[in-house]
Amino acid sequence: MNILVKLMSISIIVLIVFTFLNNNIGISIAKDKIKNSFVNKNLIPICCTWGIEMKGGILTYSFNGGDKKVENAVIKAIDSWNKNLKGLEFKKTNSDGNIIISFTNDGKKVAGKTVNSIDSNGFIRKSYVTLSKKSFNRQFSPAEIELVAKHEFGHVLGLNHANFNGNLMTSQVNKGSGTISSCVIEAVKTANEWKLKEGGVSIHKPTKSYVIC
Ligand SMILES: [Zn+2]
Repeated sequence: MNILVKLMSISIIVLIVFTFLNNNIGISIAKDKIKNSFVNKNLIPICCTWGIEMKGGILTYSFNGGDKKVENAVIKAIDSWNKNLKGLEFKKTNSDGNIIISFTNDGKKVAGKTVNSIDSNGFIRKSYVTLSKKSFNRQFSPAEIELVAKHEFGHVLGLNHANFNGNLMTSQVNKGSGTISSCVIEAVKTANEWKLKEGGVSIHKPTKSYVIC
C-alpha cells in the first residue's frame, strides 16, 4: 500500500477497565465524542465511513507483535464479523494491513483502543487497534480479548457507542453483548452505505448519523 494519506484528524476511542468483582470485568469508556440528544431511543451513532480501501470489498489486517494465543483470539473475533457481514471481508496479511492490531502488556487501565485515521475528505483510511493483554496485573482470558476485539472492530467499521445496554457497542462491555446483532450490522451498513448498500459505485459519507435499534 503506497498511498499517501493526508490526515486531517484522528478519532480515538478508549476502553478503560475500572473494577474487578469476582472476576467480572467492568469496562467503561474514557472518551466518547458523540453526545446524542435522542436519549429516549436506543441508538447506535455512526462516526464515519471507509474510503477507497473498502472499494474492492476487502480490508486487510496485520498484527504488530503479540503471540499465537492472543492473535487467535482476535482472529476469532474477526471471523465472527466475516460470517455476519455480507459484501466485506477482513483478510489477514503479513505486510502492512489497512488495520494494524497491536498489543500492550503494561497492566494499566486501558483495555482496548481504536484510532481511526481520517483523511482530509473525512474518510477512514487506516485503523489502529491496540488491545491490552492484562489490566491491574490480571491477564485477560482469550475470550475477553476476543470480546474486546469484536467491540473494537465495530469502531473500525465506523460505529460509536450505543446509548443502551445489551449491545456489542454498549460502552460498558460487561453490560453489553458479544453478539453481532442485526442492528449492529445495519449500523455498519449505514456507516458504509456507499459500499455495503450501494455496491461501491461512488464513495460518499454516511447520510445518517445513527440507526435506531
Ligand atoms: Zn468502544
